[in-house]
Amino acid sequence: MLKDDLKYLYEIQKLDIEIDELTENLNSIPERIRQLTLDLEKHKESIEREKEVIARLEESKSDVEKKLSNIKTALDKNKKKEKSVQSGREGESLLREKENLIRDEEFYGNKLKDITEQLEKSSANLSNLEDSLGDVITSTEDDIKLYTEKEEELKNEIEVLEDKKKRIAVHIEDPTIIKKYDRIRENRDGIGIVVIDKPICAGCFVKLPQEIYNKLKSGEEIHFCEVCGRILLWKGFIDE
Ligand SMILES: [Zn+2]
Repeated sequence: MLKDDLKYLYEIQKLDIEIDELTENLNSIPERIRQLTLDLEKHKESIEREKEVIARLEESKSDVEKKLSNIKTALDKNKKKEKSVQSGREGESLLREKENLIRDEEFYGNKLKDITEQLEKSSANLSNLEDSLGDVITSTEDDIKLYTEKEEELKNEIEVLEDKKKRIAVHIEDPTIIKKYDRIRENRDGIGIVVIDKPICAGCFVKLPQEIYNKLKSGEEIHFCEVCGRILLWKGFIDE
């Protein structure tokens, strides 16, 4: 009987909708795992970057310290020479040199202070990153494990539903109806058959001719919505 075929088809669609949801969930898992792995990689990269920053700062610090030490030596020399100045000209030149050295000493002194502050910040940042790395690794591994388990679970659930579908499909007398249904479903957002209790398509809400609606209720032939093409099933044929 056609009306039984349609009834079974409607049962199949309920399962298909569930399968679609589960499949969507299943298909999203690899991307979620990829994102988790990526976040962990980013965390590790931040640590490496911070280490590079610290290495560069330490190099600059040692350069600046060397410069300051040279300036200090030059200032000591200048001071010694000051004591044995022979001419006014020599005195002037020494004074200019001293002024320049003092200016440099102040400049590099400030620079050293800046670098030291940056180093402190970077070191604190690095130890935070290193401290939290362990937790990030653990939670990433835990989450991936959960997702992998979920994947298996979903695959099993889908298999069970596919099985149910097969068991229902054997009752359908006209198997071409399933092919038609599958094709419509594919093109119409996963809904191939709609249940109606008034002359309005429940898929696209177009008004149906009363004549078609009456024929539909007789259950003698299959009817499609003229607008969306979905299979129409009169509510009186299903048990709900
Ligand atoms: Zn329609």
